[in-house]
Amino acid sequence: MYIPCTAEEEILFKQISDAASDSGMPCYIVGGFVRDKILGRPTKDIDMVCVGSGIDLAHAVAKSLKPKPKVNYFKNFGTANFKYKNFEIEFVGARKESYTHNSRKPIVEEGTLEDDQIRRDFTINALAISLNNDDYGALVDPFGGTSDLNEKLIRTPTDPDVTFSDDPLRMMRCIRFATQLGFEILPETFEAITRNKERIKIISFERITDELNKILLAKKPSVGFDLLYTSGLLTEFFPLLTNLAGVEYVDGKGHKDNFYHTLQVVDNVADRSDNLWLRWAALLHDIGKPATKRFEKGHGWTFHGHDAVGERMTKKIFGKFKLPLNEKMKYVAKLVALHLRPISLTKADITDSAMRRLLFDAGDDLEDLMILCESDITSKNKNKVKRYLENFEAVRERLKEVEESDKIRNWQPPIDGQEIMDIFQLKPSREVGILKTAIREAILDGEISNTREAAYEYMLQKAKELGLEPKS
Ligand code: ATP
Ligand code: MG
Repeated sequence: MYIPCTAEEEILFKQISDAASDSGMPCYIVGGFVRDKILGRPTKDIDMVCVGSGIDLAHAVAKSLKPKPKVNYFKNFGTANFKYKNFEIEFVGARKESYTHNSRKPIVEEGTLEDDQIRRDFTINALAISLNNDDYGALVDPFGGTSDLNEKLIRTPTDPDVTFSDDPLRMMRCIRFATQLGFEILPETFEAITRNKERIKIISFERITDELNKILLAKKPSVGFDLLYTSGLLTEFFPLLTNLAGVEYVDGKGHKDNFYHTLQVVDNVADRSDNLWLRWAALLHDIGKPATKRFEKGHGWTFHGHDAVGERMTKKIFGKFKLPLNEKMKYVAKLVALHLRPISLTKADITDSAMRRLLFDAGDDLEDLMILCESDITSKNKNKVKRYLENFEAVRERLKEVEESDKIRNWQPPIDGQEIMDIFQLKPSREVGILKTAIREAILDGEISNTREAAYEYMLQKAKELGLEPKS
């Protein structure tokens, strides 16, 4: 075998090889598995290509395995796959593809192995390993994929304008592989992305988002976002993000470039956490800045309210990018909304009640919020960075003390909405909300103690102001 395989993989490939030779179909391992094995990256998905019917081969292989896996197959696409042990194996017949302008769905005909390799996106993804008896384990590399792997280069096996125009998702994949693998994109290939960037509009947001998530999960996501930006692709599908780029000057005063600042924050978060959603929060934390930017005489540039504006924009962006509209979205929106709060707590004379409020508002996400805030420090001045980080450390300590004495983090006020409705025989209404909020605020402000008795008294007093009498 040209590639290093585990004993389990060796046995599996022998079984596939035997089934293929019994069916008279030349058969190869191809694509990501070969690439990742050569690079020494972990990989489980195996793609097989055969000269003949991929569906027939999948069935023949499945029959020879114990226990026999259940084959899923798609007649329209001529593909089949099954799970076996830890492997997810996909079979396809070698094909030739031609495309029409409006769709990424090609017209497909049967083809040779080389036809199949040239239709693949990059030379490093077009490597094949023979499972045929006469050259078992040999590498088939007609487009110089191994030399590109050695030189850490991404290039298309054929004219990049054709590759990218045929299936514009490949432009996203190109930048994603460059980011994940730390490879360079060949200049001709990169220039073709710039020329074909508008073609991205035929790709669904689900597919774009899959690639964006992979870029965000890489070790250094800024690499990918910078490539997306400089190629012009990012502005095509995410103008709200590229609006952050650039510096404006008034009276000789500029502000920082909020796009590159944002990328630095994303990298800083990536150094501290693997949480995809925390990385999204970093990407969107300043998204409200362009909409709130003002130049105020005597103050310079301000972005008042960009936290609240950013929170609303986050929800819209999640919709557009087909990201989950569940607690993940709420979490990201909340971190965007709160990202300035810990900074305000680094000032002198901060009361316990301000600390309690943040504990209450952030709840279980406090630690993630602190990671975001620490990552938001992107000054080049090392002393400044050190001082700011120390200030945050002091805030963490204070928060810990207040939490220990008040247990506010997952705290619920001692009287809830249901009880208020029962006491005053109210239906869900504005009044219930007013009373509920008044109790919570009074306790968080330290105006009354955190007990049922105090809350009850206070509630009666507030209710009276609203003209309400208790009915029970
Ligand atoms: P990963 O699994 O890390 O996303 P991969 O290269 O294995 O990387 P897959 O989507 O699993 O990507 O696809 C398997 C193989 O199919 C690729 O290596 C490539 O040869 C081919 N391929 C996938 N998507 C495309 C595409 N859009 N255009 C051309 N070839 C593709
Ligand atoms: Mg794969």
